[in-house]
Amino acid sequence: MRSFTIKTQSRCEMIDITGRVAEMVRESAIREGSCRVFVPHTTAAVTINENADPDVPRDLLAVLERLIPFSNGYRHTEGNSAAHVKASLFGPSQTVFIEEGRLVLGTWQSLFFCEFDGPRTRKVLVQLTAG
Ligand code: ZN
Repeated sequence: MRSFTIKTQSRCEMIDITGRVAEMVRESAIREGSCRVFVPHTTAAVTINENADPDVPRDLLAVLERLIPFSNGYRHTEGNSAAHVKASLFGPSQTVFIEEGRLVLGTWQSLFFCEFDGPRTRKVLVQLTAG
């Protein structure tokens, strides 16, 4: 298993990690297989969506903020329940196929690390499996 760290800059942000993951795939020399990306955090997530237009991740964050406000009478005393809810909606992992040594993503698809309770230093785990 491989990993890398991300230093996030704001409370909520989506960071395109496609390039870093693609580089791990290249270095592995795996031609066919799968790539699993997992974040070991309860207030962060991984998702796949468009980054050709940076307004797409901005809109996603704006909608999440409307649906799941930061303060909303939550019980969790740490004060970051909104982040926990957002993290569970998006989920902690994504799997992408590897073909001909490359990630198989649609033209408009990017892998995003989603920060919901930053800024923090976060870890991203990457498992590459041949086959
Ligand atoms: Zn918490």
